[in-house]
Amino acid sequence: MTLVAILSGAGISTDSGIPDYRGPQGLWTKDPEAEKLVTYDFYMSDPEIRRRSWLMRRDAATWGAEPNAAHRAVAALERSGTPVRVLTQNIDGLHQRAGLSARKVVELHGTAREVVCTRCHARSAMDDTLARVEAGEADPSCTVCGGILKPATVMFGERLDPEVLAEAMAITKASQVFVAVGTTLQVQPAASLAGIAVEHGARLVVVNAEPTPYDELAEETVREPIATALPALLERLSTERG
Ligand SMILES: [Zn+2]
Repeated sequence: MTLVAILSGAGISTDSGIPDYRGPQGLWTKDPEAEKLVTYDFYMSDPEIRRRSWLMRRDAATWGAEPNAAHRAVAALERSGTPVRVLTQNIDGLHQRAGLSARKVVELHGTAREVVCTRCHARSAMDDTLARVEAGEADPSCTVCGGILKPATVMFGERLDPEVLAEAMAITKASQVFVAVGTTLQVQPAASLAGIAVEHGARLVVVNAEPTPYDELAEETVREPIATALPALLERLSTERG
């Protein structure tokens, strides 16, 4: 059976009302003050930055967001029996909310749906921490050890989790079809994964509104809106033989 690897970026979630935070035109990239809220050194050294960060999380568009047709199409591909893995740059958890098995999703930049203690590494639900913020705690600390809590996302100035990266690499090399969707393929490691997939014999399909540096390696590039183009593409892949 053909393994389909899907690399998803911010573009797959914009139809769910989630803005592009980290891309070249992203909100955080264009607003250095806002970027401080998600920069590790500022976050760790300044309680005021943490207070503002929690308020931003509380108000973030992520919480009301629902999966869109593109997320649902990926989940449907799994249900059709096609082996599928998702490597996502997104932290919104919308692939899982669309019904895709959590074990099929590699979250390259972590998840905004959990928090992690920076001292003892205990993880817990973001909802529980935001409830504490709502109840008046400006900078909730770890209930286990009292350490500083942060969202379980990869902040600016933090390295990607090497185990997560290794898993993404293994999936990329094993894939026969590699679909890059809603990503500009200009941020590492996403960009290099597309090239590695091709080196290992995968067919590359790029679904993105704008051209990417990998378009000329791609067997197919799709410029149409993701919410209609991806379901059509995956439907075709799931019925292909051989
Ligand atoms: Zn702790």
